[in-house]
Order: sequence, then C-alpha cells, then structure tokens
Amino acid sequence: MYLIVMEKTLVILKPCTLQRGLVGEILNRFDRKGLRLCGMKMVQLTDEILSEHYAHLSSKPFFQRVKDSMMTAPVVVCCYEGVDAIAAVRALAGPTNGRLAAPGTIRGDYSMSFQENIVHTSDSPETAAIELARFFKPEEIYEYKQATFDYLYASDEY
Ligand code: ADP
Repeated sequence: MYLIVMEKTLVILKPCTLQRGLVGEILNRFDRKGLRLCGMKMVQLTDEILSEHYAHLSSKPFFQRVKDSMMTAPVVVCCYEGVDAIAAVRALAGPTNGRLAAPGTIRGDYSMSFQENIVHTSDSPETAAIELARFFKPEEIYEYKQATFDYLYASDEY
C-alpha cells in the first residue's frame, strides 16, 4: 500500500541565489507548488555547522571548497511542509549537477554548475529531522492552517 505522509523538509537558498538576485523567484517555485512555509530566516553559516551538514562529503576533494562557497554570503533557510514534501521538494530542485538537471526544475532552470546549484534540500525523513533541528529552534517552526489546503489535496491524500 502507498503510504501518504505529511512531512516537513529543509530548503537552503545558497549564497549564489542571494548574489544572483534569485531569492524571490526561487521562493515563488515553492509557493506555487502548494507547499506550506513553516519557517524562514537568513543565516551566516560557519565552517563548524557546514562540517556537520556536509559530513557525508568529508572524504571528497571538494569538501572544503563547497563549505567555503556556502560561507561567501548569508543563506536563507526555509522549512516547508506538505504530503510527501521531501520527495516533492527534491523533484522540484532536480539533480545535483545544474547542467544536467532537466529544464523546469529549479537547478535545470537556474544553474550551470555542480556546486553553485541554487538550493539545498533534505534527502530523506531522517535527514530532514536532523537538518531542521540543526537550523531551527522549535519555536521558529510555525503551525497554522493552510487556507488553500482543501484545494491542494483530495481527502484521501492526507
Ligand atoms: P545534493 O545537494 O543534490 O543533495 P550532495 O548532498 O551530494 O547533493 O552534495 C551537497 C552539495 O555539494 C551539492 O549540492 C553541491 O553544491 C556540492 N557537490 C556535490 N557533488 C559535487 C561535485 N562533484 N562537484 C562540486 N560540488 C559538488
């Protein structure tokens, strides 16, 4: 049976997104998809938090370069909620390499790079829980009823 799950996920708008003046356009992609914005703030990342966040890349030759890139300007961290939101947001973002990402995805439409690829998105429920706790205090995540909810989902979809 297909299990339907209401999920929260982390999105980070990377420094390249701020520097290229794309913050509004990228947030618009998530808005118009129908995801509920539960939290959002601007943060200057540090080597310490990035070493945790990108620990799965620590053996890669580009590890330090990716971390440095994420510290060149502040980022915008967002929490979005929706049914299957983790997979839906990953699909919206597209694969890591912007050059190979399909047109219509965020990376496919806005990125020519493996590294400078506009957004970070959580890749699993386990990672999303850890990442949201890394970047948000509990009181920074807001619960409210999405006014459009009944028009976003059928009654058997949540
Ligand atoms: P994703 O962000 O798609 O989940 P990863 O978790 O594998 O991808 O990598 C984290 C980030 O590290 C990527 O978004 C990208 O900025 C950078 N990165 C990953 N692989 C490469 C690579 N081969 N060359 C340059 N940067 C990379």
